[in-house]
Amino acid sequence: ADELLVKSERLSAVGEMAAGIAHEIRNPLTTLKGFVQLMQSSQNMENFYLAVMRDEFERIESILNELLVFARPTARVLERYNCAHLVQEVIDLMTPQATLQNILISHSIEIGSLDIMCEKSRLKQVLVNVIKNAIEAMPNGGQIDIYVRAVDEQQSVSIGVRDNGPGIPAEVAGRIGEPFYTTKGTGTGLGLMVSRKIVEAHQGILRIQSEEGRGTHVEMILPVHGAQ
Ligand code: ADP
Ligand code: MG
Repeated sequence: ADELLVKSERLSAVGEMAAGIAHEIRNPLTTLKGFVQLMQSSQNMENFYLAVMRDEFERIESILNELLVFARPTARVLERYNCAHLVQEVIDLMTPQATLQNILISHSIEIGSLDIMCEKSRLKQVLVNVIKNAIEAMPNGGQIDIYVRAVDEQQSVSIGVRDNGPGIPAEVAGRIGEPFYTTKGTGTGLGLMVSRKIVEAHQGILRIQSEEGRGTHVEMILPVHGAQ
């Protein structure tokens, strides 16, 4: 399987501007969405068009939400947290969605898994993004295995998500993680780029390995709290 590191364009300046713009756009968007909702319930409009409008608003909204992850490099709050707990919390969160799609999530979490220093909500977001991608890749069911284990002589922790979905074709592998590159009709193409940013902000690395027809393996490696 080829290993492809998620593209590492330096987007910090662009990212900050994007975050500013995203913030400004979000408020009027919320208002517009509300009005569409009202119109939809008042029956005297073409409901089909309104439904399309709402979908598009929601799409813009998810793009903005993902771009906003670039915002506020200031005052990041890092807390010491146990990896196993973090992963378990995300598994609990994602299991209903997986079950609905006939996907079985299994996990192997090393006993006494280590603590890391993290911005918990963001790191959870990374795992949610990765598991969501696996779920979306397997509309007809499948399997997701999640693991947590110590590596580098207990200096780092490796958290990984494997699926047995369709994998990523070699022709497009190079574009994965490029901003706005998506193969989904309703995708934003920002999930992996944003995830990579978050992992790097934790001094970690995000790796993606994929084999067409066999599945995808996404792994993040993070320094353990107190590592040399
Ligand atoms: P989005 O999910 O909005 O498309 P992402 O950045 O999360 O954006 O993913 C980019 C693309 O990478 C996806 O559109 C898909 O083609 C591919 N991809 C990511 N994860 C997987 C996976 N587990 N299996 C197959 N393809 C994947
Ligand atoms: Mg995604």
